[in-house]
Amino acid sequence: MEQSSVRVLIVFGTRPEAIKMAPLIKTLQKTSGINPVVCVTGQHQEMLDQVLNDFDIKPDIILNVMRNAQTLASLTAHLVQVLEPVMKEAYDLVLVHGDTSTAFAAALTAYYAKIPIGHVEAGLRTYDKYAPYPEEMNREWIGRMTDIHFAPTPLSARQLARENRKQHVYVTGNTSIDALRWTLKKNYHHPLLDQIQPGSRMIFMTMHRRENWGLPMEQVFRALREIVSSDKTIELVFPVHPNPLVKNLAYEMLGGEERIHLTNPLDVIDMHNLMSRSYLILTDSGGIQEEAPTLGKPVLVLREKTERPEGVKAGTLRCIGTDYEGVKKETQVLLRNEKKYKKMAAARNPYGDGYASDRIAEIILKYFMKQ
Ligand code: UDP
Repeated sequence: MEQSSVRVLIVFGTRPEAIKMAPLIKTLQKTSGINPVVCVTGQHQEMLDQVLNDFDIKPDIILNVMRNAQTLASLTAHLVQVLEPVMKEAYDLVLVHGDTSTAFAAALTAYYAKIPIGHVEAGLRTYDKYAPYPEEMNREWIGRMTDIHFAPTPLSARQLARENRKQHVYVTGNTSIDALRWTLKKNYHHPLLDQIQPGSRMIFMTMHRRENWGLPMEQVFRALREIVSSDKTIELVFPVHPNPLVKNLAYEMLGGEERIHLTNPLDVIDMHNLMSRSYLILTDSGGIQEEAPTLGKPVLVLREKTERPEGVKAGTLRCIGTDYEGVKKETQVLLRNEKKYKKMAAARNPYGDGYASDRIAEIILKYFMKQ
């Protein structure tokens, strides 16, 4: 390690953080003057390992925080406890991503240790503290402690400015778009594609958010089952989140239908390449709302509101909620009305150009040059 390098501790613990931090880690590893140290908390260990393998990243520090039936409070307390000794090392900067409990706890521990904090994907807001929960407050609290804000879009930068955090806010684009440059393959094949009838249209769905557990999920699953059953040219692919509350309901309500393909969570390379071969995407995920427009796929968002309104404005996303009638109607509109479909599919992706990581590396170097 170069003596004068900026020592950057990168902390993450879930699959979406890993996917969006991976291209940044790769960039920081080859940036002279920066010495990145990777710490994973294992908030989603299995799904995290898949991503680390795909990007060939070997963490320097592995913490294993998952316990059965952990509440948000006990998870957060546990994270702070295990991160405290890690932050005793002399780091110049701690980088966290987005809005998870890991990101919040890492920022809080870095603050206690008086280490500057860089927040990747800063400034997203719904301004509704329970939607998404607990992510909305996590990102607001992280923003309050952050020294360098890497905002993905001009809107997220404006939101930070409105909260009086004008200093050190940079618009970088979203690193999720960088990740697609690594994962998308021209000659890609997956056994699932052999099961889709030629000429059929594939609806790709993911749904796992806490706010959607129970009745909202039941309504969406019922609507989708009916759409698939009533049209032989439609197939549904749904990688099911391992949470039993999601998994049991999905298999109970959507299982046993020939044209509904339920799978385990997909490896990120499979995920991105299968999405790119779909016709239409339904999701309550955050990251997928950013990825799909780059793939030219319309997204129906299974939420009442989104912290990613740039896509709604650009015309690539539409929030349809989780009500049975609404989901059925809006999905059928896109399946039946080609003009409306094409308009959404052709809208411009507002989330970045695939080079956010390079900008972030440059900003970090400049920040420490000025010190
Ligand atoms: N993803 C994946 N495999 C799956 C489902 C999702 O690789 O089976 C990826 C997806 O492409 C996106 C990220 O995981 O990059 C989104 O994660 P998730 O929906 O869990 O979280 P959110 O984005 O809502 O925080």
